[in-house]
Amino acid sequence: MKAYQILPRILRLSLCVMVCIFIVASLSGEARARTAAHVLVLHSYHYGYTWTDSLTEGIYSTFADKAPLDNIVVEYMNTKRHPTELIFPHLRVLYADIYRNTHFDLIITTDDNALEFILRYRDELFPKTPVVFCGINNLDNARLRKSKNITGVAEKIEIESTLNLIKQLQPDVTTVAVIAGMSESGRINLKLFREAIQHVDELSALDLSELPVDEIQAQLNKLDSTSVVLNLGLSRSTDGHIFTVDQGINLITQATNRPIYTAWDFAMKPGVVGGNLVSGKHQGAAAANLAIMILNGESADHIPFQESPNANIFDYIELQRYNIPLNRLPSSYILLNAPTPFFTIDRSTGIILIIVSLCIIAVSLLLHYNIKTRRIAAQAMSSTEERFKQLADAAWEAIIIQDEGIIHQVNNQFYPMFGYSLAESKKIDSVEMLIAPESRREFRRHLREDDTTPFDVLAMRKEGSTFPVEMRIKQMDFHGIKAGVLVVRDITERKLIEVKLAEINKTLENLVFERTKTLDQKASELEIANRKLLELDELKSSFMSTVSHDIRTPLTSIIGFTKLISKEFKSSFVGLVEEDSRLAKKRDRIITNLAIIEEEGERLKRLINDFLDLTRIESGSAEWHDQKIDIARLIQQATAVVSGLMPKGAAARIHMEIHEDLPVLHADPDRIMQVLTNLLGNAAKFTPPDKSIIIDVSTHNNAVEIRVTDEGPGIPAKDLVNIFDKFYQVGRGETTPETPKGTGLGLAICKQIIEHYKGHIHAESVLGKGSTFTFSLPV
Ligand code: ADP
Repeated sequence: MKAYQILPRILRLSLCVMVCIFIVASLSGEARARTAAHVLVLHSYHYGYTWTDSLTEGIYSTFADKAPLDNIVVEYMNTKRHPTELIFPHLRVLYADIYRNTHFDLIITTDDNALEFILRYRDELFPKTPVVFCGINNLDNARLRKSKNITGVAEKIEIESTLNLIKQLQPDVTTVAVIAGMSESGRINLKLFREAIQHVDELSALDLSELPVDEIQAQLNKLDSTSVVLNLGLSRSTDGHIFTVDQGINLITQATNRPIYTAWDFAMKPGVVGGNLVSGKHQGAAAANLAIMILNGESADHIPFQESPNANIFDYIELQRYNIPLNRLPSSYILLNAPTPFFTIDRSTGIILIIVSLCIIAVSLLLHYNIKTRRIAAQAMSSTEERFKQLADAAWEAIIIQDEGIIHQVNNQFYPMFGYSLAESKKIDSVEMLIAPESRREFRRHLREDDTTPFDVLAMRKEGSTFPVEMRIKQMDFHGIKAGVLVVRDITERKLIEVKLAEINKTLENLVFERTKTLDQKASELEIANRKLLELDELKSSFMSTVSHDIRTPLTSIIGFTKLISKEFKSSFVGLVEEDSRLAKKRDRIITNLAIIEEEGERLKRLINDFLDLTRIESGSAEWHDQKIDIARLIQQATAVVSGLMPKGAAARIHMEIHEDLPVLHADPDRIMQVLTNLLGNAAKFTPPDKSIIIDVSTHNNAVEIRVTDEGPGIPAKDLVNIFDKFYQVGRGETTPETPKGTGLGLAICKQIIEHYKGHIHAESVLGKGSTFTFSLPV
């Protein structure tokens, strides 16, 4: 895939990612309160009191982030200035009156007095309204534990954490000078300090809480470089002075130049380094978060009381002042008075910005890659175009690039083909000027159809002469426009050759026609001649069979009378000429001649019988008495017959090799017997008395195959091809000089019989070794 193809996908993907980020960012954090709820914030103290103000800030900023602010009502109970027992009854009456017609969805109380008030009067003033408290030191208040529909946030100073921070930030410090003041809360805090410092090694306490103010300041002034100060709230001194938070801190900071640590964020004044602090803002925020959960449907009873949400808070300026490096700070902290960075962003905005920046970088890289690829492609294209032009100029064909008839470019071959010069070619109004008028319609059709198949048209030169061309049109992108490329080949020569070829073809066709006519004539003449020959053959055959028939009767008589004469002559006349040697010689000649007549007569009879038999088979007039035959039995019978005919005392023996499970054949048993006796007879005739004949039978390819093998003289190859022809007899040559005594029809009859049953017969022979005659009959 090319870079410019990937790019739109990447852009789409980036857009999707950004949209997702936006949605996730919008939904992140807790769900917003569903609708504007009516919330009462009940402060124990007064407006302007630092702690109370920081609680308000935490509540407001959290609601501002997550829920509408419009319906928050804030009440200050002012219990710092007025004892609760004095002011509670008035407030009870006041709230009952002013909130008579107001329903609050939730009440947030800050610090103990407000919670106490609500625990006393909620059922009366705000029945069933869920309450979230914060700024509460003692959560083990039994009444609080028993109350329903109430939850909240504990406020607990973590002195041990601050002491550990001191060790971490200032490892050289060994003494912590603590000032807790003589108020009730001061005493409690001091107790907590004493417990805490026991758990921190290498730190010892210098307790200044119970000293008069002057003495405190004097002691502070004397602190050396291994000491720090822990301010746990100097609200009242042992000599009776009362101090505000700021006044207390001022007293301490004026007296010492050692680092001051504290336990509350509102005590983070100039000169104070920090510590693990109770944070009014965090308290308020934690309470507001619980309130939002309840307003979103969570039951207050299902939300456990929260631990004090303290934070590690430090003043950057003070850290600098005491040369405390920032890398000693704990993993999470808040740094006050830190130099303002060029701009600040919150975490989720930062993440979004990072992702967006990464996307932009990725897109830029891709764009850069794309531009580079395109530039390379453009360079490649221009060199390709140059090469293409060279190729086009080297072509045999004229190449014309045109768009809607206007010619944009042509190759060199165009000019000689159409007779235009370069300047003239620029003046051609339309590509149709290059086409002969009679071909323009055809040309337009091909141009329109966007068909790349070649077609023939007549082109026209500048001076008006026309010539045949083969043209091919292909649409292609040419510098941003869809242009038609015409490839034009002058086919004048081809057309001339085509005409010549057509002429030659015509002449050839005429010639072939003439020859075919002569051949047809000859064929019909041959057919007539053949028919005549067949008729003659039939005539001859019928003549021959008539003659044969007619000869057979007198021949029978001749043979019969010859036998009779021979018999009577032998019985009556032979003894009469014993004394006369001349007559005895004549007697012997007569006996010999009579035997010859008889023998030749028998041969003639066989010849006639065989001939008639063959003629009947060939003409189809032979009768076939087909039936199931047991070929093995038939062979045994044939063997017996042939053995009987063999010369007496001859040692020739016929061996049979017959497979047991031969299939049953369907044929005329006499005819198959005729074939078997013929083949076995021939074999017996030519096998010397001391040699044997083998006949074996097997089954191959749905046919029974019978082989008759002898060890006779064999048959010369030249005779083997004709041996199944009618009247064909093998001349015996010098070794067997006697003239053949057979008819030359036996094998011809065998062939006819076997082929009648769609079988095959053939002979193989090795001269001097023997012959094998094989025939097969389909099952
Ligand atoms: P014929 O009646 O003369 O034997 P055949 O058609 O049976 O006529 O045989 C044709 C010729 O094939 C014969 O001249 C014979 O010499 C020759 N021939 C047939 N069988 C054998 C054989 N087994 N070995 C040698 N020659 C053979």
